[in-house]
Amino acid sequence: MSGTPILELRDFRYTYLEGTPKANEAVRGVSLEIQPGERVAIVGPTRSGKSTVVDSFAHLLRLKPGQVFFEGEDVAAPGYDRGALRRKVGIVFQQPETQIVEDVVGADVAFGPTSAGSPAEETRGRVEESLDGVGLPYRDFRLRYVYALSGGQRRRVAIAGVLAMRTPVLVLDEPTAGLDPRGRRELLDLLGRLADDRKLTLVVCSASLQDASLLCDRVVVLDEGRVVMDGPLREVLRRDEDLVRLDITLPEPIAAARELRHLFPDLPEDLTTEDDLERELVQRLGTP
Ligand code: ADP
Ligand code: MG
Repeated sequence: MSGTPILELRDFRYTYLEGTPKANEAVRGVSLEIQPGERVAIVGPTRSGKSTVVDSFAHLLRLKPGQVFFEGEDVAAPGYDRGALRRKVGIVFQQPETQIVEDVVGADVAFGPTSAGSPAEETRGRVEESLDGVGLPYRDFRLRYVYALSGGQRRRVAIAGVLAMRTPVLVLDEPTAGLDPRGRRELLDLLGRLADDRKLTLVVCSASLQDASLLCDRVVVLDEGRVVMDGPLREVLRRDEDLVRLDITLPEPIAAARELRHLFPDLPEDLTTEDDLERELVQRLGTP
């Protein structure tokens, strides 16, 4: 049915400080296949192992062979071209502001392509499309100082820096953490649009299903370093009791529907948008 996954984890396990008294078994056997063009949310409470999974894609961990594959190739095999991996998988780490390396916006976004050998004229084009893409118009922002930007703007600069690498896969680790509701929604809209335009494969980590529900159609739920659910968004949302037990934030319409269920016991469990909820309520209240 499906071809070679673009990213795959096969029984991936990772222990920090292995062999020491402080050894911490962070990921305990995660298997995961991501097909090109999929939009997958990795959702789980804090310390469930999301960032460790992301770091495995970035080759930041001491990987054992046979666990992490890109386009069918073992990225931990001797002689594997890690540079090629970096050109294919763009990663926006948790607290992306820390990925900013230059003082001036345009220079920071240009840093990646320039380091990868992109000629000046092409780099300029990439910086422009990336800044425009994250809603920071190139003309207005390229000469601004990073320190003078708001937190949300800084995060967009960091994302633009990754976009400028034009990777077909984009991985974002808790991209909306710390943003206010409006900032979250704006960023999610923007990411959705970018993924559409560029036909990206998208992997988004979050502790909130709200983010996931706006951006992804498949959800992998992690708990204590293991996959506890993996399926289409609507199927995962139906297990609201389990999700609440795992301390995962439900999308607002679903949380509201849970509250309203003592009045309307037949409210569906998979309402992803406020419009869905409103429609269901209007039906039950009858049209005036
Ligand atoms: P999440 O991103 O879901 O919060 P993490 O992958 O960051 O989860 O963490 C999983 C587990 O690994 C946690 O118990 C965390 O404390 C531990 N951990 C993460 N990074 C390190 C590290 N650099 N050294 C030791 N333990 C770590
Ligand atoms: Mg994390």
